[in-house]
Amino acid sequence: MPTPPGLARALFDRLRRSVALVVLILISVLYTNCRMTEKTTETTNKTTPQTANDPVAVHRRAIAIDMHADTPQRLLDENVDLAQRLSDGHFDSVRAREGGLDAQFFSIWVEPQLFGAGGPGAMKRADDQIAAVHALAERHPETWEFATTAADIRRIASEEKLAALTGLEGGYAIDEKIENVERYYKLGVRYMSPAWTESLSWAGSSGDEAGKTRGLNDFGRAVVREMNRLGMMVDVSHVSDKTFWDVVNNSTKPVIATHSGCRAITNVPRNLTDDMIQAIARTGGVVNVIFYPEHLEPGWSEKKKKVDGQIASEVQRASDEEKGDVAHKKLARDRVRREEFAKRLPPVMVSRLVDHIDHVVKLVGVDHVGIGSDFDGVQSTLSDLADISQLPNLTRELLRRGYSESDVDKILGGNMLRVMEANEK
Ligand SMILES: [Zn+2]
Repeated sequence: MPTPPGLARALFDRLRRSVALVVLILISVLYTNCRMTEKTTETTNKTTPQTANDPVAVHRRAIAIDMHADTPQRLLDENVDLAQRLSDGHFDSVRAREGGLDAQFFSIWVEPQLFGAGGPGAMKRADDQIAAVHALAERHPETWEFATTAADIRRIASEEKLAALTGLEGGYAIDEKIENVERYYKLGVRYMSPAWTESLSWAGSSGDEAGKTRGLNDFGRAVVREMNRLGMMVDVSHVSDKTFWDVVNNSTKPVIATHSGCRAITNVPRNLTDDMIQAIARTGGVVNVIFYPEHLEPGWSEKKKKVDGQIASEVQRASDEEKGDVAHKKLARDRVRREEFAKRLPPVMVSRLVDHIDHVVKLVGVDHVGIGSDFDGVQSTLSDLADISQLPNLTRELLRRGYSESDVDKILGGNMLRVMEANEK
């Protein structure tokens, strides 16, 4: 049956409208796809050059955590104002910002020869330094905030401020009383190394004769348990080999070295053997590589000892002529050593530091390495990482060697955030 002419026109019109609609939809789909491709290309163009080629941009995006600086002594003994750019030392707020730092663990260091390996003198020295770090944050809330957790660091970094944290270098201030571990935890301390260069009754040091045979005794093991319970990280930098093994075999939480290097490269007692690095990784912990040439450059320690012998009388004279207290006499000695080391010892570059990072990564992977400068605690530095403002030079060298942006994030602070979180649980 033929279609009546009126009906045919109506059908034809409908068909035309449908075709037009389909064409419109097709055009719009094609257009959107083009726009999306353009947008993707735009985004890639915007980020690729910065992430892949610009170390400074990579560095700024990462959360950088330095696990060890001895600046609190300067706050106490020299009354320095960290808000100013200081003409000496390795650390202040201005240079920390320039260096893209986000969090600093300040070392609460009690020199046992000067303040006692226990007792009220050691406790007071520790308490005063902790108070000085709290005061820094209170006096400069626009720059600093006292922090104790990984979440604190993330938040403070997002507010573009610096997080100030504390760790005890040597357990002298706990004065052989288990309850003092919690006392220091409550004051904000979040790591402790059992010993500095002098052994205690309960833990051996890598720096003296007693440490050669001393590990943790029952009290020492109780201290590790108490630190695990509270969420205070155990630091194995400075402890004797025997104490190291007692710590990793007793700790139920990830263990850290806050400022050490690799003995396979530089054979000094302060550094970690490959077995030790593997043991730290098995706990889930992190080796934070020190920036100090003595622990990084093979043979440097022997050269430094020789120079120390040559300048001994000069150092002694500076100490005798200083009329201040014991801390000021130490400052006078350090000043001479710093000047003479700079003149007499060969320069060491950041690439040597990255050799140690590479070594840890080859042994145990990129999840178990971090950084611990020891700034303001040493009389010699790397030539191109001579203070905290030059921290981006480390990132530059890591990228040059082929580390990815996510690797750099982990090395600069991401790994330590993970370990802090694991210890906080
Ligand atoms: Zn140290």
